[in-house]
Amino acid sequence: DVLLNVKNLQASVDDNSILKGVNICVRRGEVHAIMGPNGSGKSTLSKVLVGHPAYEVTGGEVTYREGEDLLDLAPEERAQQGVFLAFQYPVEISGVSNADFLRLAVNKRRGALGESEYDPIEFFGVLGEKMSSVGMSMDFINRDVNSGFSGGEKKRNEILQMALLEPELAILDETDSGLDIDALKTVAAGVNAYKNDENGIVLITHYQRLLDYIKPDFVHIMSKGQIVRSGGPELALELEKDGYKFLNPV
Ligand code: ADP
Ligand code: MG
Ligand code: MG
Repeated sequence: DVLLNVKNLQASVDDNSILKGVNICVRRGEVHAIMGPNGSGKSTLSKVLVGHPAYEVTGGEVTYREGEDLLDLAPEERAQQGVFLAFQYPVEISGVSNADFLRLAVNKRRGALGESEYDPIEFFGVLGEKMSSVGMSMDFINRDVNSGFSGGEKKRNEILQMALLEPELAILDETDSGLDIDALKTVAAGVNAYKNDENGIVLITHYQRLLDYIKPDFVHIMSKGQIVRSGGPELALELEKDGYKFLNPV
């Protein structure tokens, strides 16, 4: 049951070609890890999949669920249809409380699913439950989105968004970077709690560490805008041992 099928995807920024033919197929229930050196195009791939306007798709195709053309949907439609990206660098939004931001996003998603919208009181209950599940205290609710949050708190907030939105496809871009071991475990627990047979997860990570806590079904290595190797979890262990030097043999 294919959830996401990326075929020969090419994309550029300001006429610089970054993605040079990416292929990846994610079935429901699968976790795919994408690893690779800095600058290989991992974040670019995640942003192209959610429709970030800075990136121009110059070739290839991306189908979602029953063959829908993902690239044909506006970014907000992709979100409403269950595509979620946790950014490597989450943005701060001043003047908007976390609770209001999350309720708006969740209600849009519920609308797309034909479910009724939460009123603020109802949502408060739902939020409280999910927040404790990702180890966030309730005082984050009324603070502006990500403002003054530490790196670890921003990452937990992204996992909270994911837990609330229940996306079909979750893309996590280096959600592990900068986390101490406790925050890492909380984030991993949030991801593992979200994971089920219906959804798919694309986990972008530079290090093997996160994969000790979230077990991938497939590991892909990206280099210079392409996936150059794919394998099982053992590929990540091999990288941990030998690094990326196989990409530049001497
Ligand atoms: P990774 O996430 O694997 O570290 P990125 O996708 O962030 O790699 O970057 C891949 C390449 O694309 C890098 O050379 C980077 O400088 C370039 N790039 C990415 N986004 C932009 C952008 N918005 N403007 C200019 N160059 C970009
Ligand atoms: Mg990087
Ligand atoms: Mg990146």
